[in-house]
Amino acid sequence: MVRYSDELIDEIRNSNDIVDIISQYVVLKRSGRNFFGLCPFHKEKSPSFSVSPDKQIFHCFGCGVGGDIFRFLGKIEGIEFRETIEILAEKAGIILPTLDDSKENRIQELKSKVYEINLIAAEFYHKRLYQPISKIAQDYIKKRKLDNNTLKTFLIGYAGNFDELYQELKKHGFTEEEILASSLVNKSDNGKFIDRFRKRLMFPIKDVRDRIIAFGGRVLDDSKPKYINSPENLVYSKGRNLYGLNVAKQSKQNKIIIVEGYMDAISLYQRGIDNVVASLGTALTESQGRILRKYASEIIIGYDSDSAGQAATMRGLEILQNLGYDIRILQLEGAKDPDEFVIKYGTGRFNLYVDQSISLVEFKVKMLKKNLNLEIANDKIKFLNEVANILSKINNEIEREIYIEKIAIEHNISKEAIYSQINKLIYKNNIGSKILERPRINIIKTKEGKEQITEAVIKRENLLIYLLLNYKLEAYEKLKNQISPDYIRFEKNKKIIEKLYEEFKKGNSNNVLDLFKDEEIINHLTYILAYDFEITDYKKAIEDILSIYKKENMIKEKNNIIERLEDLNITDEERADLEKNLSVLIIELSRLK
Ligand SMILES: [Zn+2]
Repeated sequence: MVRYSDELIDEIRNSNDIVDIISQYVVLKRSGRNFFGLCPFHKEKSPSFSVSPDKQIFHCFGCGVGGDIFRFLGKIEGIEFRETIEILAEKAGIILPTLDDSKENRIQELKSKVYEINLIAAEFYHKRLYQPISKIAQDYIKKRKLDNNTLKTFLIGYAGNFDELYQELKKHGFTEEEILASSLVNKSDNGKFIDRFRKRLMFPIKDVRDRIIAFGGRVLDDSKPKYINSPENLVYSKGRNLYGLNVAKQSKQNKIIIVEGYMDAISLYQRGIDNVVASLGTALTESQGRILRKYASEIIIGYDSDSAGQAATMRGLEILQNLGYDIRILQLEGAKDPDEFVIKYGTGRFNLYVDQSISLVEFKVKMLKKNLNLEIANDKIKFLNEVANILSKINNEIEREIYIEKIAIEHNISKEAIYSQINKLIYKNNIGSKILERPRINIIKTKEGKEQITEAVIKRENLLIYLLLNYKLEAYEKLKNQISPDYIRFEKNKKIIEKLYEEFKKGNSNNVLDLFKDEEIINHLTYILAYDFEITDYKKAIEDILSIYKKENMIKEKNNIIERLEDLNITDEERADLEKNLSVLIIELSRLK
């Protein structure tokens, strides 16, 4: 694959600051030379995710993931390396050369054709909505009280019959491959083309960058299914987009209301509530949560009450909470969904309910109560246990205290009973989390399964790599003759040192992280870079590590000689030689101590 030159990649890396980029996703606090925050790649309660502005790397001491700015962006956005380059180049105002990479170009070309097709299709459906032939859709829109401005903003349309769109796209000169790639047309076994969406009210789905990536279609009669969406394809992946975000991102509010359906989002928007998105019918995902981070810190869930309580929804809410959002649940009364509510009671009343949204904890307690009869002793015990479980997950003690107080009074349970139950759980959980968040270096058996590598050995080898990475050729010159890669016992370290020696030998010492492709190795490297070895004098550190290896080699040698001396078959001459060597070694060793 043709790729951008290393110089260019360097320039892009150097023109962006990793702290700036990561701050858009993680709240970072300075601590010494580095920044720390809650890892976005695993669930944790205390920050073990570190970012080094000096080294321009990140590393999580909890889950072990690490890398440079490209790797962070790629991982968090779920995008390819090339796309991270494009984004960061754009941020830095660097213009990228076009690459002559025919396969990649072909995909890019096809993608841009699909975007083009989507736009033409949306406009085709939209125009059709106003024609007499679409009376059924017009009636529906009247019934739902959507005004013309809303129809235009969301480019709502009405799909035709049979192959109307297919014929339209052919007129525009698109090839069969391009049309099929859009997923808007299906090809049957006998080679006939038929539109995927027929006689449906059409909602184009746009990404944050305002490109149409997919469609949702609603039937206007009783046929099933009521809604269908575009399948995942070149430009659309489910769970990575939110309907209406292209509009909601312009809102001045720091909170976003997530509703279930397109109609809820559209209807609220029309009535002046501009910070609404729809979750596109799937449970909320982490990547949706991350996308929202740029626009809001508070999320209000405006689902229908029965679906808000469902397990899949709950999981989604917990995912969002773990990303650091303040989650609130909207509790509407007197209507089945936000659309109906706002039509019936108006914007003012809706906003009032938004302000009264309850926290996730309150919501969970409410759901819990729904299935229990607190008059029955057994149910009450169950309630106490479950409540304690919910409250034990709150980190803020004051917040927890408030809930305990409230629940104790409301349900006539003694505060002490709740406390003691929570404490049991917290004790259990803390032990669990400590084990989870320990750096993942344990004693590891070598291939032969004989020798055990201790943490001390790995730490020493890590230090060796740290010195090589930071003091490069200078360290290499001093270390290469004394410490052979053969002495390195931890397999990953051995691979790294072999590679570093090989490159340093050629005089290559720039961007060593780029030399490694293996994810495990990169994670280990960033662990080493982020680890605080507390080096004050690196020259002394190099000397120290040299003497450790020297000593170790001498001990090995000494043991070797002793073993050979036990052999009764050696000649007197040999024996004298060995004994001489042994005494030299013993003297030198005693000096080293
Ligand atoms: Zn992590």
